[in-house]
Amino acid sequence: MDYGMIGKIEKAKRYAQERDRFRFSSFTVTVDGANNPHTVIYDNGTWHCDCDFFHSRGRCSHTMALEFILEGMIAAAPVTE
Ligand SMILES: [Zn+2]
Repeated sequence: MDYGMIGKIEKAKRYAQERDRFRFSSFTVTVDGANNPHTVIYDNGTWHCDCDFFHSRGRCSHTMALEFILEGMIAAAPVTE
């Protein structure tokens, strides 16, 4: 491997540790739930999930799991109980 690429890999590893460098704007994820897979969509601060709980509450275990995974890399949603 050439030295240019080695330097880039080292830089990438450093960036990967610095989560505040990353800001997700939109993505779609399939989350394997306890019973079925669910499609979660994130679009500029707005979540959507196709599960029943999300339809009634606007938040669910699938979207919240992703909030935990992506903490610091997405706009924080207010916790409403
Ligand atoms: Zn859900």
